[in-house]
Amino acid sequence: MIDSHCHLAGEEFAADLSDVIARASAAGISGALVIVGAEDEEEYQRAAGVTSAWPGARLSIGVHPHTAGQFADDPAAAAQLVEARLAGTPAARAIGEIGLDYHYDFAPRDVQQAVFREQIGLARRLNLPIVIHTREAEEDTFRILAEAPAGGPRGVFHCFTGDRAMARRALDAGFHISLAGIVTFPRATELHEVAKMIPLDRLLIETDSPFLAPVPHRGTRNEPARVVHVAEAIALLRGTNAEVVGEASHENFTQLFNP
Ligand SMILES: [Zn+2]
Ligand SMILES: [Zn+2]
Repeated sequence: MIDSHCHLAGEEFAADLSDVIARASAAGISGALVIVGAEDEEEYQRAAGVTSAWPGARLSIGVHPHTAGQFADDPAAAAQLVEARLAGTPAARAIGEIGLDYHYDFAPRDVQQAVFREQIGLARRLNLPIVIHTREAEEDTFRILAEAPAGGPRGVFHCFTGDRAMARRALDAGFHISLAGIVTFPRATELHEVAKMIPLDRLLIETDSPFLAPVPHRGTRNEPARVVHVAEAIALLRGTNAEVVGEASHENFTQLFNP
């Protein structure tokens, strides 16, 4: 299986990256989509080390809503920076994570929206999928996605935590949905229902490492090997086995990110 969203180029993994990758391989994880912040020079440099150490790794580059404020004066510059990074990065397959985060509101909402919009425009021009981060911003997220002309963008709602109605909207708009370790939490009952309703050909699984460690590892640094727990939790909910979930998500990953 594949970890469709992790931050392996983050400084949290700088000291023991090869061990982390070895554990992932031993657990049967053949690859990952590694998220890189376009404006983070150090992370971008480390990403080259990740792809050379792990041939199955692909990259997604974007300006996260948390850092959108850096482009308040010129939102188009965010997309220009992403485009320049993509051009120098053969392993890049997607734009993201991009979107809106009204939970933390680290950047003004109008700036988040403008930076999101510019990067959607870039994704359409380059015909690349997007990795969407959205938190407490459902209406604005779908409104902005709907502004694009027919035929795009495509991509994934990562670390989905919405309800069934929101999942329906995302699926109807043509997007994939990726579930993270939150689905392993016993009290995430609405997310359990979401896990049962996503068609197998639209489902992805992720760790969002180093964040969101699943049961039984809660509170520790997360890593790609633990995506197995996500697959197992989803399989249990759907009455199938983890191999079925893992294989489907692997196929979807290949189709979406063409690794
Ligand atoms: Zn995110
Ligand atoms: Zn993330």
